[in-house]
Amino acid sequence: MSSGSNCYEWQIIDRIKETHNVFTYVLDPVSDSQRFSFEVGQFVMLGAFLKRPTASGNSEESFVERAYSISSSPLRRHLELTIKDEKPYGYINPKTGKADGFAPYFFEQMKTGDKISLKFGLRKEHFMSKITNGTEKNIAYWSGSNGAEPARCLIQYMEDIKDSEYNLTLFYSNPTLYFPDDNSINVIYYNWLIDMARKMDKFNLVFTFTKDQDLPDSEHPRVKYRKGRFFLNQDCSEEKTLSKYHTRVDNCFNPICGSSAFINGTVKLPDGRIRRGKGIKQDLMEIEGIKSEKLDIEQFYLQHAN
Ligand SMILES: Cc1cc2nc3c(=O)[nH]c(=O)nc-3n(C[C@H](O)[C@H](O)[C@H](O)COP(=O)(O)OP(=O)(O)OC[C@H]3O[C@@H](n4cnc5c(N)ncnc54)[C@H](O)[C@@H]3O)c2cc1C
Repeated sequence: MSSGSNCYEWQIIDRIKETHNVFTYVLDPVSDSQRFSFEVGQFVMLGAFLKRPTASGNSEESFVERAYSISSSPLRRHLELTIKDEKPYGYINPKTGKADGFAPYFFEQMKTGDKISLKFGLRKEHFMSKITNGTEKNIAYWSGSNGAEPARCLIQYMEDIKDSEYNLTLFYSNPTLYFPDDNSINVIYYNWLIDMARKMDKFNLVFTFTKDQDLPDSEHPRVKYRKGRFFLNQDCSEEKTLSKYHTRVDNCFNPICGSSAFINGTVKLPDGRIRRGKGIKQDLMEIEGIKSEKLDIEQFYLQHAN
């Protein structure tokens, strides 16, 4: 076991489809010497040799790495990573003339039994470390459409340790519930989250859909649905979303995870300039009066404006 920054060899033992462009990979170390222990909220650098296209129509193989939050409990046998394909297959970076995505090529080329590398222990003060060390147990977790992976790790952990002091509301924002092309569910872990909210009386779930007009009926009091952006009512007035849905707002701890646009309204414009705005971080501070020490942020990537 190690907690230093090291490189380990693991292998894929299963792959589970979450949505049309998201898979969860179930991993095991190739031998016991490659196993490492981790905490809720930590991420690994996943590395693999991948063949990717170039502008001239050829393909090139190289070792490619990306950061992925661990999406399974530290107390379980397997380690799981949930990967969303953000950049479409075949996207060529105009500056380099080469494909620079990771996920679509990983999905295409890596199979059960294949070995991959995991670098671990890259940050000391990791996301949600205040939860891991027991300082914070009253939690309002804010997730963009890609950002619920560390929350899944936390929910599984809460299920494993059965500490009745933990109290979690997951605020989960997605554009739509269904993927328009084939009407399949387009929210990562959707059915699993509802099952967990039914089972765990200290876990509440608040879905918001920013583009849907119709909402599903809730079949459980701990599962709630709303429309539009968090902190905004339908008539565009301010909503105190945290106070409305979370039972103990005093002293609650707020991890926020997702793209830069979701966290703090920052996007990269087509001409390369950065536009700053407001996101969940500012809303929590300005509308709910949350202090910065009660915020914790994990940014997955810089959002590109279309
Ligand atoms: C600490 C940390 C933890 C993370 N955990 C996870 C996780 O658990 N799961 C997960 O899925 N991801 C996670 N990520 C993000 C992950 O590292 C990858 O960025 C992501 O999987 C997308 O990979 P990709 O190869 O498809 O795109 P990448 O090559 O990584 O590029 C992503 C970037 O491409 C931009 N982009 C998207 N589409 C286009 C387009 N058409 N043209 C140009 N640019 C575009 C996006 O705005 C974004 O900035 C994490 C990142 C960090 C830093």
